[in-house]
Amino acid sequence: MEKILISACLVGDKVRYDGKSQYHPLIKELLEKFELVPFCPEVEGGLPTPRTPSEIVKDKVMTKDGKDVTRQFRSGAELALNICKYLDIKVAILKDGSPSCGSTEIHNGKFDNRIIKGRGITTALLEQHGIRVLNENEIEELLK
Ligand code: SF4
Repeated sequence: MEKILISACLVGDKVRYDGKSQYHPLIKELLEKFELVPFCPEVEGGLPTPRTPSEIVKDKVMTKDGKDVTRQFRSGAELALNICKYLDIKVAILKDGSPSCGSTEIHNGKFDNRIIKGRGITTALLEQHGIRVLNENEIEELLK
């Protein structure tokens, strides 16, 4: 069975910044076709749950209260890449909108709830290494 890396929050792990999950209703169907490897780059990169929300600000990642968490975000991305290499994973399903996992959109870096086009830190690194990154809105298509 093909292995897919998936944002841990999408399979129901309570790893989001607010301590909640983001369970996706098609996870059971995905499990019938793929072996899912849940991973949260922010937690694995060393950040706590719950945590202060972060956004990408130019070439850094900053928390809403002004701490530089770039190192933790990059560390989580590197670990995600290492897992993909180790398990020969070619596809990831990552939660859109996140500064780690976003693939089409992220927050604008001003903490004003506005969204812009962009990719998260983990998504960018995986794509640089040839891994196909889908988001939760593309699961249905993948199951066809
Ligand atoms: S970093 Fe990714 S996996 Fe972790 S909570 Fe955010 S969107 Fe989910």
